[in-house]
Amino acid sequence: MPYHGLPERWPATLTIERHDMKNIVILGAGTGGAIVANMLNHKLDQKEWTITVIDKAAEHHYQPGCLFIPFKLYGYETREDIARDITSTLPKAAKFIKSEVMSIDHVNKKVETNRGLIEYDWLVCALGCHCALDEVEGLAETMGKNGVHTFYYLDAALAMQPDLEAMQSGKLVIDIADMPIKCPVAPIEFAFLADYYFDMKGVRDKIDITLVTPYSGAFTKPNANRVLTKIAWEKHINIVPNFSLERVDAKNRTLHSYEGSTVEYDLLSIIPPNLGPQAIENSGLGDGTGYALTDPKTLKHRKANCMYFIGDNTNVSTSKAGSVAHFEAETVVENLLREIEGKKARPTFDGHANCYIESGYHKALLLDFNYDVEPLEGKFPMAMFGPFELLKESHMNHMGKIMFDWIYWNMLLPGLLPMVPLLPSQMNFIGKDMSTHPKIQQSQKVKVGGIMTRNVITVPEGTALNAAATLMAQHNISSLPVVDQNNKLTGVLTEADFLSSLNIRDDSAIKNMFNMILHRKRPARHGGTTVDSLMTTPPITIREDDVLQVAIRLMDKNRIKRLIVTDDDNHVIGILSRPDLIGLFTGKGSKANAA
Ligand SMILES: Cc1cc2nc3c(=O)[nH]c(=O)nc-3n(C[C@H](O)[C@H](O)[C@H](O)COP(=O)(O)OP(=O)(O)OC[C@H]3O[C@@H](n4cnc5c(N)ncnc54)[C@H](O)[C@@H]3O)c2cc1C
Repeated sequence: MPYHGLPERWPATLTIERHDMKNIVILGAGTGGAIVANMLNHKLDQKEWTITVIDKAAEHHYQPGCLFIPFKLYGYETREDIARDITSTLPKAAKFIKSEVMSIDHVNKKVETNRGLIEYDWLVCALGCHCALDEVEGLAETMGKNGVHTFYYLDAALAMQPDLEAMQSGKLVIDIADMPIKCPVAPIEFAFLADYYFDMKGVRDKIDITLVTPYSGAFTKPNANRVLTKIAWEKHINIVPNFSLERVDAKNRTLHSYEGSTVEYDLLSIIPPNLGPQAIENSGLGDGTGYALTDPKTLKHRKANCMYFIGDNTNVSTSKAGSVAHFEAETVVENLLREIEGKKARPTFDGHANCYIESGYHKALLLDFNYDVEPLEGKFPMAMFGPFELLKESHMNHMGKIMFDWIYWNMLLPGLLPMVPLLPSQMNFIGKDMSTHPKIQQSQKVKVGGIMTRNVITVPEGTALNAAATLMAQHNISSLPVVDQNNKLTGVLTEADFLSSLNIRDDSAIKNMFNMILHRKRPARHGGTTVDSLMTTPPITIREDDVLQVAIRLMDKNRIKRLIVTDDDNHVIGILSRPDLIGLFTGKGSKANAA
């Protein structure tokens, strides 16, 4: 029996009929839980499997709408604009149990709820995260009163409307109490919308808008931070960085930081600390703040078996966003099905996140990034056509954000987005302007001389081939510059030259010529006994003052592994190899001399 001790009064559709079936239990029917339930429902044999979804809430909220509710903007004004019956988002075949999850016994595969125990064969945990008002001294008792509000959950967002509407002058402060938070761009979006809202009301010049944040700027990722900070500056939005909130003094309307600084407000829009579910912590599965110890690539729990995590309740280091839950769902579902079939889970999740950032005046920006690549400029999702602009304001991006509401209910939650070819779950570089990639930018500044190897072994013309080969093997090098009696470079002997000499082909001269021209194959070279007969001339060289981007282009175009660095007199002064360039990604390049 998969269910124990639950009250008998179930809604008719939720009665338990097939106890002999295997049970996948999904905890949470928010974004992640609903997507996984729907995707599994499409893929699992319903004669064999039961999908059970547990949630304590009666409603599913489209949380991105909470951003607009306080301002009553773009059609978001009432509860009905973003709330729906929670069961309406789930597959009809799934069993929904409305109860609170207290803990998970991963050894005996049971979930303890406030209505009894539920057994599972496989578990997907999508319990999200919540605003922990008690974590900040003075916050819980004043929330919704004395000008203290948040837009991070629906009831609070609705409660902010009268105070915002009444505000004609004074200080509006948006404060991020602590990290991590879900949708980390939402606070700066709120500031941008406040600027627009008060401008429309004709009182913007009487209202100070300040974003107070524990970050060093408007956002965590440097590229996005640069762009967002500039927009904030243009809109006369103040940013108070590195402010770790200690307490809210509602009586004096001030915020106090652990560092001893103070910020005054008339109206406070606070983002309280976001904690992971207590149930995860109660079960010994969390990191101390309720976030589950999740493998960042397979999305399995790091210690417990038969258990996947998706969405805001993981501790993986990407944004907590609905888009992330959507991209994660593909990995979770694929791996779950693989494990059920006895195969290993694959490390396919790359931290992919994308989010629109409303900037007011019917405009928005779009970010697309993952664990390894920070937001870049360019077009999305198609190169040249977009239609969305990355890291730039546009009306089309705003339309994307507004359209996302429809997509959320009709495609994302029903698990249909993975079928859209332009939205792969892994990030790609299509449409991205690579010149805005920090590594590429660095390669445009760092000079060859900064990272080349200076001790270069050379051989004089006339050196016997076997002596040259011995030298290359002894020093574990793949090429040898050949110099004349004035020590000037005349050629380079490479491993490829040796291979070419050993690859005796009986192709005709014409075929050889076609191979060289069309397939860029090397001419067959054999016959001599010294380096002069085999070496490549003229060698491709570079100067130490050239930037790495030039070297990368040369190496890529000519398919070579090393470049010889020469001075004005054609003396060899260094070698630049592919591993030197890979150093750009390992940090070695960053220590090199920049222009
Ligand atoms: C103001 C705001 C704006 C946002 N804007 C965007 C945006 O533009 N783009 C974007 O991609 N994301 C945005 N997000 C974030 C996005 O909404 C969340 O990241 C996403 O909903 C996470 O999905 P989830 O399934 O992890 O959690 P949720 O959708 O929060 O679902 C968690 C579910 O678990 C249930 N639950 C929790 N604890 C228990 C328990 N103990 N027992 C039973 N049930 C429980 C809850 O009732 C809830 O239904 C925004 C969020 C906010 C607050």
